[in-house]
Amino acid sequence: MTVDGGPKLPASKLPRVGTTIFTVMSGLAAEHGALNLSQGFPDFDGPRALRERVSHYLNDGRNQYAPMTGVPALREAIASKVAALYGRTTHPDTEVTVTSGGTEALFCAIQAVVRPGDEVIIFDPAYDSYEPAVELAGGRCVRLPLPAPGYRPDWNAVADALSDRTRLIILNSPHNPTGSVLTASDLDALETLLHGRDTLLLADEVYEHIIFDGAEHQSLLRRPALSERAFVVSSFGKTYHVTGWKIGYCVAPEALSAEFRKVHQYVTFASITPVQLALADFLADHPEHHLDLPDFYQRKRDRFCALLADSRFTLTPAAGTYFQLLDYTAISDETDVELARRLTIEHGIASIPVSVFYQSPPPDRVLRFCFAKDDATLLRAAEVLCAI
Ligand code: PMP
Ligand code: GLN
Repeated sequence: MTVDGGPKLPASKLPRVGTTIFTVMSGLAAEHGALNLSQGFPDFDGPRALRERVSHYLNDGRNQYAPMTGVPALREAIASKVAALYGRTTHPDTEVTVTSGGTEALFCAIQAVVRPGDEVIIFDPAYDSYEPAVELAGGRCVRLPLPAPGYRPDWNAVADALSDRTRLIILNSPHNPTGSVLTASDLDALETLLHGRDTLLLADEVYEHIIFDGAEHQSLLRRPALSERAFVVSSFGKTYHVTGWKIGYCVAPEALSAEFRKVHQYVTFASITPVQLALADFLADHPEHHLDLPDFYQRKRDRFCALLADSRFTLTPAAGTYFQLLDYTAISDETDVELARRLTIEHGIASIPVSVFYQSPPPDRVLRFCFAKDDATLLRAAEVLCAI
């Protein structure tokens, strides 16, 4: 690689990485004026009271650096929430760090503990930010399949893959892109496997409140034997319908948090101040907000699935997240990448091809659609999909 007339550049550190599928599909949707059910974001706003608190702090001179680890009131509110929801006593000063989105928290956790030569177990299909972060740290991902249609981990396969080189296992529940969720028996199996090992855990729980059919989110924070070795990551973007604010957090034991913070302080140093102050107020004033989320999104899931009953797509309703997989076997022999592109350009509806989240994609024919949309948007989307 060279710059015209300039220096010879080093080989890429991420030779297999291109532009993320979310940017590619949202760009294609915009270019063709398509309904965008690809990248995951709501087309409705977050709570008015929360937005008003941000505006208050913006106009009240609270626009300079926040403390490196996060505004104390917000860290305290997060610790209280974790104690109330998952029964884990968490010290806000030493175990909670506010980050610029879940993405930053995932990156910092990985950089904090993964070294050259380490292995990191991830499950395919895997959210696309994990592997590049592992590779930048000099590690290597060992990718284990979550087989369709249940998309559940095979703990025997995990046992076979574990070695002295396994530094970290990355879990994601509720799971993007499949919508599957881990159960208590999954966590039992994990506890048994890790007993006596030094392997650490990174739990991506950004959809912790978007879980359906009465299931309870199985946070690693419920299990002392798991949380003593875990970074647990969440995102206010999902919980409050404000993905553009890019604000999240990591809960981890003191020793892990200390290493996490060494990275965080040089990646972003601190996250946006007025938003942190507003979130602290909102969590204190409306601690019940998240209780409505399962029903709120389950109604959207059910509406979307019901509207598709007469389509040629087939589906198993998502158990969590705001994504629904649709199987197009009865419709086309195209690859999911080809079909996602053609549906955007010719039919005006954008989705995410799931094969891009695999190392070796299986022959499944599925596309991911985001149902975090107003009812009118879901109706328009279903009309298009039923005509395909
Ligand atoms: N993990 C998963 C599984 C996600 O879907 C997302 C959302 N984009 C993130 C992490 C990142 O969250 P954030 O937007 O807060 O960075
Ligand atoms: N997590 C979102 C999704 O799965 C997208 C995030 C992003 O665009 N980086 O659609």
